[in-house]
Amino acid sequence: VCRVRILDIPVDVINKKRAEKKVEQMLMENKSHTIIAINPEKVIAARYDSTLKEALENADLLLPDGAGLVWAARIFGYNGIQRIPGADFMENICKIAARRNCGVFIYGSREEVNRKATQILQKRYPRLRIAGRCHGYIDEEKMDELIEMINASGAIVLFVALGSPKQEKWMMKYLPRLNKVRICQGIGGTLDTLAG
Ligand code: UDP
Repeated sequence: VCRVRILDIPVDVINKKRAEKKVEQMLMENKSHTIIAINPEKVIAARYDSTLKEALENADLLLPDGAGLVWAARIFGYNGIQRIPGADFMENICKIAARRNCGVFIYGSREEVNRKATQILQKRYPRLRIAGRCHGYIDEEKMDELIEMINASGAIVLFVALGSPKQEKWMMKYLPRLNKVRICQGIGGTLDTLAG
């Protein structure tokens, strides 16, 4: 997958089909991979936030989640790029995880939002195995327990809904301690949207 830079922020030249293929590959590799959607807000924020920029630079898949980004990439001749909203792609990952029987863990958002969104996903994808879930308002000193809980759940896929740049920083800090997770996607406010 080719990676271009828009205003010095990296984004992948990819379409949904190839991104799905990439997810399948990630599931077969015994290491953790990060998936982050690049939208205009993140392009701007990363210019002034070097930790966020570092998280983006080190991501394994950077989804083009903005019409302007896609337009700009096409101007430079990268016609293979297609807009992939992070929220849509979360459901693509759920479908793949269900098919492969990989457990998913859903971390983030308010408790009732997390619970409702998890129920909706379970209903939408009956074969999806929800390994665990937790709201996104855990104190820093309780983080060890959460890490323990995610590891013990056996989840292969982890969705992190803390908003940006919190979720990207969380992923960079804690992913090295999540020894079973192979895919970790930052999903921003997706659970809020799902829960309505
Ligand atoms: N959130 C959270 N913990 C926090 C801060 C935010 O779980 O400490 C959740 C919040 O409940 C919301 C999500 O992060 O569900 C996304 O927040 P926001 O809309 O600000 O992020 P964006 O979608 O713009 O990235």
